[in-house]
Amino acid sequence: MLKYYDPQVNELIKQEEARQASTIRLIPSENYVSQNVMQATGSCLTNKYAEGYPNKRYYEGQQVTDLIEDLAKQRAGDVFRAPHVNVQSYSGSIANMAAYLALADPGDTIMGLSLPDGGHLTHGWKVSATGKVFKSVQYPVNYDTDLFDYDQIAEIAKENKPKILIAGTSAYPRKIDFKAFRKIADEVGAYLVCDIAHIAGLVAGGAHESPMEVADVVTTTTHKSLRGPRGALVMCREEFAKAIDKAVFPGMQGGPHMHTISGIAVAMKEAGTESFKEYAHQVVKNAKALGEKLQEYGFKLVTGGTDNHLLLLDMRSKNISGKKMAKALDRAGIVTNCNTVPNDPAPPFNPSGVRIGTPAVTTRGMKESDMGEIAEMINDTADNLEDLQAIDRIGKRVRFFCSRFPLPKSFIHSEE
Ligand SMILES: *Cc1c(COP(=O)(O)O)cnc(C)c1O
Repeated sequence: MLKYYDPQVNELIKQEEARQASTIRLIPSENYVSQNVMQATGSCLTNKYAEGYPNKRYYEGQQVTDLIEDLAKQRAGDVFRAPHVNVQSYSGSIANMAAYLALADPGDTIMGLSLPDGGHLTHGWKVSATGKVFKSVQYPVNYDTDLFDYDQIAEIAKENKPKILIAGTSAYPRKIDFKAFRKIADEVGAYLVCDIAHIAGLVAGGAHESPMEVADVVTTTTHKSLRGPRGALVMCREEFAKAIDKAVFPGMQGGPHMHTISGIAVAMKEAGTESFKEYAHQVVKNAKALGEKLQEYGFKLVTGGTDNHLLLLDMRSKNISGKKMAKALDRAGIVTNCNTVPNDPAPPFNPSGVRIGTPAVTTRGMKESDMGEIAEMINDTADNLEDLQAIDRIGKRVRFFCSRFPLPKSFIHSEE
């Protein structure tokens, strides 16, 4: 047992566990997996090499791994109505690179939302390999509305004729019109890759439109609102299946992480249930409730609100930098991240915004009325930014508040 063999690591895991239980987790890309997902992920599947795909492996001993991978693929295909699913990508970043390499050649042009306006690094940002291997063109949001401006995106696409158009976001609080992106892609002869990493749980639960019908390839992480282990899916129509599979393995990776894939299978079983549908809709209701309360306290929300799981606070309305606010909240036990706002004049390491989201707190069973309390604690923190004693008093309230919402049980606890 870990606690006897390596008390040091055991103790650190317990500390992290206590931190996760006693803080309000508002980072929109984080969640808590169920004990069942945790158990599959921590299983003997971590011991097996399975390079290749079911029935086409390079090593022997695949009697069970083939069944597990097929089950994960089938369940994910059912949840997202995807004709073909690849479950092997180690992460969303690798899934995206694989999708691009399946559809385009190095040097071709890809076009995605710029990182400071809410895109992801792997949508062609210059420090990412995706921005070095491919010629990258970035589109902004409309700086009057902070929303996608489909006419403007079409214009940029016509000018640059990308091979791949990317629709997907990491910090955009509104619905994405995937059909409008399809139309633009068709006008310029581009492939459409939709990256639903953040909203996958909402899509699975029917709380956000699915891009599956209109996209050529859909990528997603499995560990954000989808509430699975850390991993990714690449989904497509049959016509791209071979190219996608080749791009993931052997293109980007060697042996798949079978323990993760078994956890994905469990998470996909959960994502297909009625209770997950309720969860997805509650995530959105909670985000709206939290946003409305914060607006009552004078916080300015980018785009004026939210349709999904996340809110972007523009802290310029309170004359506080994003980093300072996120640090103060963290001291109080409210965990967020600072984030650029569209057209942000501040530098990226100290941007003007704070990004918050409701997937994790909704997993803990919190409802709209609890969002009111969280908003109050966020507001108290903003009002007492320089007063460490006041922040520590808020921290006490945060810990008491959290004790009302127990976490899914983890291994270390169940061992004891
Ligand atoms: C999180 C995210 C990714 C990358 O996922 P990792 O698993 O961290 O590599 C890709 N795309 C979007 C839109 C994301 O939000």
